Amino acid sequence: SLILGIESSCDETAAALVASDRRILAHRLAGQEAAHRPYGGVVPEIAARAHVEILPRLVEEALAEAGVGLGDVDAIAATAGPGLIGGVMVGLLTAKGLALATGKPLVAVNHLEGHALSPMLADPDLAFPYLLLLVSGGHCQLLFVEGVGRYRRLATTIDDAAGEAFDKTAKLLGLAYPGGPAVERVAAAGEAAAVPLPRPLVGSDEPHFSFAGLKSAVLRAKESGRHADADIAASFQQAVVDCLVDRTRRAIVAAPGATALVVAGGVAANQAIRAALADLAHRHDLPFVAPPLWLCTDNAAMIGWAGALRFEAGLIDGLDAPARARWPLDPLAEKARGAGV
Ligand code: ATP
Ligand code: MG
Ligand code: FE
Repeated sequence: SLILGIESSCDETAAALVASDRRILAHRLAGQEAAHRPYGGVVPEIAARAHVEILPRLVEEALAEAGVGLGDVDAIAATAGPGLIGGVMVGLLTAKGLALATGKPLVAVNHLEGHALSPMLADPDLAFPYLLLLVSGGHCQLLFVEGVGRYRRLATTIDDAAGEAFDKTAKLLGLAYPGGPAVERVAAAGEAAAVPLPRPLVGSDEPHFSFAGLKSAVLRAKESGRHADADIAASFQQAVVDCLVDRTRRAIVAAPGATALVVAGGVAANQAIRAALADLAHRHDLPFVAPPLWLCTDNAAMIGWAGALRFEAGLIDGLDAPARARWPLDPLAEKARGAGV
């Protein structure tokens, strides 16, 4: 089947056409960096307005690039959350309008499911179940991916997400938004052992992540005036690498049976993180799968792909499907954490 995918949950507007045999027929993406840069981060109102202005044109361009019309599409998939609610509504309402006009079914996709299944587009041999480190701007989780719609959460962050830590460190160092790639660039000229920084929860029996203490330590290192920015960036990046590797190693042992170690989400675009995880997988005799950089950060191909898998499984949604600011992939684990577990 052929799916039109739409993404608008943060500051990337995107449309793609994806087939259920994993072919990406077209993908179009418009970032909004310039619009948000003066504010040092994403401004929800500006993002929502930009999605409204850009999305219709991107859908048309994607259809033209793929050489198909809306009539050739089997279903229309859009991110229905989690994310900035105004932007999510723009994409979801656009998809609903197209579904209504064409009579095609709607698939309401969880943005995190898009990230979680995106590695399948990179590696045709990747099979369930796989162990997934999902590291993005708003999330840092280890998931045991058993199948479409079946995600067992093994760990999450108890405070900040890894991407958030990159973005805050960038701001502290006076680097322009978006922060992750900027920190990586500056870190390349620094010494990873130069600044002593904490590795929260490393070696801990509990499964979770924590980055708030690291962020505070970066702030103190900067304020001390004793370190070059490149050294702070490199040391920060190394601390994140060590935390991610330690927690993932724990999960490999605690949840055996995975066919591969997989990383996804925007932070997975970081080369130091990819290299360290590849090494970890190798030491545990696991294949390692990391999507190409453009599939790690937000895009519509991953939404179209998740939509294709859901459509093939008969999981379509009504036109009353809600836009959701919060939407955990594993609601049971979320509940347990809410109860203080
Ligand atoms: P979520 O997916 O949790 O809803 P999001 O969609 O905003 O959040 P993504 O687009 O998946 O997040 O990823 C964006 C994040 O990835 C940002 O925090 C950004 O700084 C980070 N990031 C992007 N490239 C890199 C990189 N090369 N190194 C480190 N971090 C990076
Ligand atoms: Mg973005
Ligand atoms: Fe994302």
